[in-house]
Amino acid sequence: AAKAAGGDRFVFYTREMTDRAETRLRLESGLREAVAARAFELVYQPKIEAAGGRLTGFEALIRWRHEGAAVSPADFIPVAEDTGLIIEIGRWVLEEACRTATRWALDHGPVPVAVNVSARQLADPGFARLVEQVLQRHGTPPNLLELEITETVIMKDVRHHLPTLNRLRDLGVRIAIDDFGTGYSSLAYLRQLPVDVLKIDRSFVNDLPHAPDIASTVIALAQRLLLSTVAEGVETAEQRHWLAEAGCDCLQGYLISRPLAAEAAEAMVMTAFARTEPLPMTA
Ligand code: C2E
Ligand code: MG
Ligand code: MG
Ligand code: MG
Repeated sequence: AAKAAGGDRFVFYTREMTDRAETRLRLESGLREAVAARAFELVYQPKIEAAGGRLTGFEALIRWRHEGAAVSPADFIPVAEDTGLIIEIGRWVLEEACRTATRWALDHGPVPVAVNVSARQLADPGFARLVEQVLQRHGTPPNLLELEITETVIMKDVRHHLPTLNRLRDLGVRIAIDDFGTGYSSLAYLRQLPVDVLKIDRSFVNDLPHAPDIASTVIALAQRLLLSTVAEGVETAEQRHWLAEAGCDCLQGYLISRPLAAEAAEAMVMTAFARTEPLPMTA
């Protein structure tokens, strides 16, 4: 009986593994076709000032519909990383975000757009040059582009990434550390890194207001290092209130807005610049 049970278990695992391998293969070949056909889309999630609520920028997030259904970037970005397809996908994201930021700046006013950069893109020796070329090609003021890099990716190999980060900073591009607080940050390194923004990971925002220690610590650290803070994944009025009181600079999350299609995001930009009060001189 024991042997039979073991046999069943073996069969079960085998089938599951085959299914997984098949799913993965379908995803991979679908992704290749999508890259060739440029079958992706960007949606834009706004960020606002915690005090005052003014629009401060957007984060571009990739969307892909495959076999009639939306596939989460959390599922296909890792596959794109493994296969190297991320290099071409990342280039498309960068181009599309810069084209959009330039168009909005010309039609309405300057609003920064942030783009997520994955490990393999950042490690690519041509990355800083690519960013420079894309900015030139689209006539994008460099301060309208922000690059979001997760803490884990930056900190895993700081020494290796530092020259690239410095070149990006020299171009005038802003750098944000995404999902901050989830990885292991060396404080000594953090002080040396050419970064502008810390994005407090959603998991810590989710703990507010009852377990505020990580969020408090990140805000205090950022103030100390003269970095600005963005809280991601703000979903409740209580979280918003706590963050504003604690001195967090910007907020992002479903409470403020879901990621929006380009047209809806543009309507927000238009409204932001249609106000009658004088606008601040900084972008
Ligand atoms: P991320 O950069 O940390 O982006 C935040 C994710 O949280 C997004 O999911 C966003 O839609 C979601 N989100 C925003 N506000 C809330 C909220 O209030 N509650 C909840 N529950 N979720 C919220 P999304 O678009 O599915 O992206 C997931 C991850 O995939 C991103 O995490 C990013 O790491 C990666 N990603 C997305 N687009 C790109 C891209 O163009 N290139 C690269 N390399 N990675 C991307
Ligand atoms: Mg991000
Ligand atoms: Mg994030
Ligand atoms: Mg995240």
